[in-house]
Amino acid sequence: MNKPLVSVKNLTVTYQIGHSFVGKNTYLNAVNDASISITKGSFYGLVGESGSGKTTLGRAILKAAPISKGSVHYDDGEVSYDLSAISKIELKDYRKRAQLIFQDPYAALSPRMTVRDIIAEPLEVMGITKTREETDKRVREIAQKCRLNLEHLRRFPHAFSGGQRQRISIARALVSGPQFIVADESVAALDVSIQADVLNLLKDIQREMGLTFLFISHDLSVVAHTCDHVAVMYLGRLVETAPTSQLFNSPKHPYTKALFSAIPSLDPDHDSQAQKLEGEIPSPTDPPPGCKFHTRCPFAEGICMTEEPKLEVADGEHEVSCHRWRELFNA
Ligand code: ADP
Ligand code: MG
Repeated sequence: MNKPLVSVKNLTVTYQIGHSFVGKNTYLNAVNDASISITKGSFYGLVGESGSGKTTLGRAILKAAPISKGSVHYDDGEVSYDLSAISKIELKDYRKRAQLIFQDPYAALSPRMTVRDIIAEPLEVMGITKTREETDKRVREIAQKCRLNLEHLRRFPHAFSGGQRQRISIARALVSGPQFIVADESVAALDVSIQADVLNLLKDIQREMGLTFLFISHDLSVVAHTCDHVAVMYLGRLVETAPTSQLFNSPKHPYTKALFSAIPSLDPDHDSQAQKLEGEIPSPTDPPPGCKFHTRCPFAEGICMTEEPKLEVADGEHEVSCHRWRELFNA
């Protein structure tokens, strides 16, 4: 088996969201006791409804959200960092190796900079290139990889469509030569027809450059079509992780089942076991006791309401956290 590039162990990210003078502060665990291992060279999907903690988990891996408990390790063979104990100098190096592609190609690009300057900025800020010639050469190489027309480097971002702008932000994320990319809802703001183009570009880049991706999306159909491994999140918890084909062929968590059922073209047994997902995701400031999904789960019974299930190995690399998966879905 390939070595993990990123290992997240029992990660909790806690935010304080309210102050009180009588000593009662309000806290929220955006991520709760999450463990994932992202193999080098994989296109790893993270999926779940809005508010489930996906962005926070991605940001913690980039050292852009606090690691309140647990650990995040990065090891690309050249360097190895424990992100809870990383020094300032190491963090500077880590910023070159681990990059974020934003969701919104409109908001992410400065309207007053040319495309060339937008892509070049990280090189200058990080001190990667020394001369203008060197910078220009690197910018041109990356622009070509991202299928941008070199003529366009002199223009401003407003001249471009959503798909082109997203290619500019991808080029900007790649220019420092990262090993690891977090792509957070990177196609969510695009028209469906453009989404496939950008996804293909990301996949091609990943293969050509041997990169590792954490691909975050609220849309299981996008994840199922692009990722080789998937983790499903619910209310800050990981509820199921598996190689995509295994998740697709035999989902073992009622939440994953329900997500598949919502996509008729992806649901392996759409007629027989369709489960509609009803109700709202509970507030993370006041999560229900026991299994966090029990308030919406059609199979919840006694123990589900009192005891929180642990993520356990179901089969090889397939993990699930549900008290009842054996009797319900162990086909
Ligand atoms: P997702 O990306 O799955 O939609 P997020 O990670 O953005 O989920 O958010 C998870 C939960 O954490 C949400 O309830 C959100 O309101 C809360 N949250 C995220 N960032 C912060 C923050 N900086 N301060 C306080 N609460 C936050
Ligand atoms: Mg998000």
